[in-house]
This record gives sequence, structure tokens and C-alpha cells, in this order.
Amino acid sequence: MQDKIIFADASSGAATQQASWQRQLSNAIRDPAELCSRLDLPATWLPGASAGHALFTICVPEAFLHRITPGDPHDPLLRQVLPLNEETLTPPGFVADPLAEADHQPAKGVIHKYAGRVLLIASPNCAVNCRYCFRRHFPYDEHRPSRAQWQEALDYLRADTSLQEVILSGGDPLAANDRQLAWLVGELEKIPHLKRLRIHTRLPVVIPGRIDTALLEWLGDTRLQKVMVLHINHANEIDASVEQACARLKNAGVTLLNQSVLLEGINDSVDALATLSERMFEAGVLPYYLHVLDPVQGAAHFDVCDAKARELIAGLRERLPGFLLPRLVREIPGEASKTPL
Ligand SMILES: *Cc1c(COP(=O)(O)O)cnc(C)c1O
Ligand code: SF4
Repeated sequence: MQDKIIFADASSGAATQQASWQRQLSNAIRDPAELCSRLDLPATWLPGASAGHALFTICVPEAFLHRITPGDPHDPLLRQVLPLNEETLTPPGFVADPLAEADHQPAKGVIHKYAGRVLLIASPNCAVNCRYCFRRHFPYDEHRPSRAQWQEALDYLRADTSLQEVILSGGDPLAANDRQLAWLVGELEKIPHLKRLRIHTRLPVVIPGRIDTALLEWLGDTRLQKVMVLHINHANEIDASVEQACARLKNAGVTLLNQSVLLEGINDSVDALATLSERMFEAGVLPYYLHVLDPVQGAAHFDVCDAKARELIAGLRERLPGFLLPRLVREIPGEASKTPL
């Protein structure tokens, strides 16, 4: 597991046994031909899948694959993970670092853009490689601080008493192992001005087995208020195992929210978005943000125009109670918050 590099000198001596979720992650499908054959996709899809894979590798764990209908090239979960030839296109306006995050890094692994909250890159890895990801060109290799470098990040957090909230992000922060996360959260909770710990992750959905006893131990123990923001884009992502993971998190005192990305051909209809909100609520998750796509190179084919995005939200508002309506936002570099559309 590459995430060991992050805490390079955090060795506990005894090589801990690999947890079940780690095995599932190691066994994830990372080969275009295997993905196509496992899902009975026509051979004509393979060249496009391979071209996209060369730019940003495929990664699909079994637990997620099971929720995809074989033989259906339009399956909303498949479209999130299967590369298409369109990824090689370079339309104007779609760039490598659409959020200009390189300008906001006071220390290695720290992104500080907004008042009161700061984001830590707690793991460069993900449990799934989402084709629309705005971090697909992120130089993660430059974001693998050793424990000494983490100290610099922690010094920054200690020095800025205006900070109330730390957001663990990535990659996917829960791709780091529990020993590392327990250490980091232990250091964070010693910082008196910090009140909230927020975790942005796709792991409870992609590999629900990630929410195991070892995770609940450090997460349940912390004095910090806990918020987890899941990234679910379509109702089909939520099966019984995901509901169970959500229930365990809620039992541990975690507030569960969700952010989605509005994606052409995946969730760009009132029906899909309404069903997503309803299904999430059944699992104990409230909608938080619906992001319009960040203009990242290789993802232009997922773009939904602003006029349609507004229309969809208007349609949703007519259909759902207010608390099931996500906030439609865009991230504009230089702004002090996400910008409502
Ligand atoms: C999105 C984001 C946040 C969190 O913003 P909220 O509106 O509080 O959800 C914090 N830091 C960075 C760098 C972000 O991109
Ligand atoms: S899990 Fe998040 S960071 Fe990782 S590829 Fe998917 S969208 Fe990107």
C-alpha cells in the first residue's frame, strides 16, 4: 500500500495484518480488458477504455462492480469508472488544475482557501478512480509528507487560532490505514481551537467494509464533532451494505452528508436526482452540495450546462422537501466559498 509512504516513519514495528478492506482495495480491477470482459461490454469499447486508462488509471473494487448491470454501457455506475475515448480530447477551458489549488498550500499536504476550515491531504490514494475527478492531474507524488512533514502541517494548524474545522481529504483520506489516521486525529484533537473533524470520502460507498471496528475505534473516541461527507452520485450506489456502513457511522455519532457532481448521462435528470436524495435519506444521509463539474481536462463529456443545472434544481424543488434539496454550487478559484448558481 502506497499510503505507508505518507507516514514513512510511523512504523509500529509489527507488520499489522491486512484488513479485509485493504485486500479488497489491492484486488480492485485495474485493467481495461478485465473491466470490459467482467461486465460483458462489447469489444469495441476497449480501445477507448485503454486510451483513457493511459491518462488516468482504472480502479474499480469488486464491491462497486457488483452494483453495475453487466452488458449495459449506459449504467450510471459504469459511466463513473469506465474511461472513454473522449478523455483524450482537449477542448478549450478544460485544464489540469481547474481549482488553482497550487496557489493555496501553506505547507505540504495543506490546502487553506476558506475561513475557519482547512483541508489536509491525508492520503494520495483513492478506492475508485472516478473519470470526472478534478484531481486526475494532481501531483500526488509531491503530497506524501513523512511524519516530520506532517509536523509542519500541524504547526500551521496550531498557529492559526481562527481554524475551527479540519477537513481530511485526498485522494481519499480513508485509504490511509487506521493506525495512521488514529495518530493524525490524536494530534488534531490536542489543538484546542479545533472543534470539528470533517472527512470527505467515497470509501464507505465503494468498499463499505472500510467501516470496520478499527475505524470506529478512533473515530468514535475523538472529542471533535464528526461530519462525514460522502460522494454518491446515483441511487444505485446505495445497497444494503452501504446502508449498514452508514448506520454504523451514525451510531458512532457521525453526521452524514453527501455531495454529488452533476454528470451528463449519469444523474442529469430530475428523476435521478430526486431518487438519489430519497434513497440517501433512507440510509440516514442528507444532501449537502450538488457541484457542477470542475472544468478538468479529460472530463468535458460529463459537463452539464448551467441553464440545465438550474432547471433540474427547480424541478427538484417542486418535488422534494427542502431538506432533501442539495445546494447547487460551483467552485471558482479565488472566491471565499463555493458559489451558488
Ligand atoms: C470545498 C472546500 C472546503 C469546504 O467548503 P464548505 O463550503 O465548508 O463545504 C474547504 N477547503 C477547501 C480547500 C475546499 O475546496
Ligand atoms: S474518490 Fe474522489 S478524489 Fe478519488 S478519484 Fe473519485 S472523485 Fe477523485
